[in-house]
Amino acid sequence: ATPMSVAVATGVGAQRGVLVKQGETLERLSSVNHFVFDKTGTLTTGQLNVHMVEPCAELTESELLQLAASVEQNSEHTIATAICETAASSALKLLPITKFTTIPGRGVTAYIDDKLILVGTRQWLNSQDIHFPEHLTEKMSQYEKQGISCVSVAVDGSIKGIIGLTDSLRPDALSTIQLLQSMGTKVTVLSGDRLEVVNAVTQSFSDIQRFAEVLPQDKSAVVKSMQAQGDIVAMVGDGVNDAPALIQADVGIALASGTDVSVESADVVLSHQELIKVAEAKLLASTTLRIIR
Ligand code: ADP
Ligand code: MG
Repeated sequence: ATPMSVAVATGVGAQRGVLVKQGETLERLSSVNHFVFDKTGTLTTGQLNVHMVEPCAELTESELLQLAASVEQNSEHTIATAICETAASSALKLLPITKFTTIPGRGVTAYIDDKLILVGTRQWLNSQDIHFPEHLTEKMSQYEKQGISCVSVAVDGSIKGIIGLTDSLRPDALSTIQLLQSMGTKVTVLSGDRLEVVNAVTQSFSDIQRFAEVLPQDKSAVVKSMQAQGDIVAMVGDGVNDAPALIQADVGIALASGTDVSVESADVVLSHQELIKVAEAKLLASTTLRIIR
């Protein structure tokens, strides 16, 4: 590759909102044959909405929301933001909490008075010996099939209700996937969410692979296994959770809205909120390298 053409291509990319940190990145991007996308905040806007608050015990909706928001007030997760905004718009006062803990990919926990509150995935609550009645798990899977992510709230070992959240695909998500596929690359969605939700949200995509319920610390291992099979992988992500996978990938691509951590871990940063720039970057890289060779 001539340094000159790479420099020109890098400049062209920058003008279009595709910031490539090093010349070699373009070369690597031109040989990428597998694009892996995070779901929340990458394929979707990451602006979650609370769809419903459903107590399943003695609590009212407001009380359940108040408990969840109080625990979530210290979390920076998109789920936490949505729950706290909904509580604020209902003028609910947050209760003081102690011993707040985040368990990545699972949820958050804290004490209110001397009661232990857990807000997170059903699998995690199950692992903490919290029992879900059959009708509740059935209801949750109905929601999940409609693309509604459910978080569960427990107090002192008993389930108290669920909160459903929705997120929408970015307007250019489908065209980005299709454009990449038309260039002959494989596409995979890698998410911490439930498979039912991933399926519902990505139902308009054909010929993609879907990995669900992948814990943040396991995302890079999935990328590694694809590389072990001979794939040259680009990982597209936005969150703190994605940083190790962005580093593991042959090319890490971050949306600039993302946290500073993921931007630092990436080789390519997309400065506008446009996912289609991923496909543009791939086109730019392939075209540049074709001219050079
Ligand atoms: P994603 O890959 O979709 O960005 P994460 O790996 O961050 O998701 O989280 C996976 C799942 O863990 C979420 O879908 C949610 O059910 C649960 N979870 C994570 N953080 C929180 C939180 N702060 N509050 C409630 N649930 C959470
Ligand atoms: Mg994410």
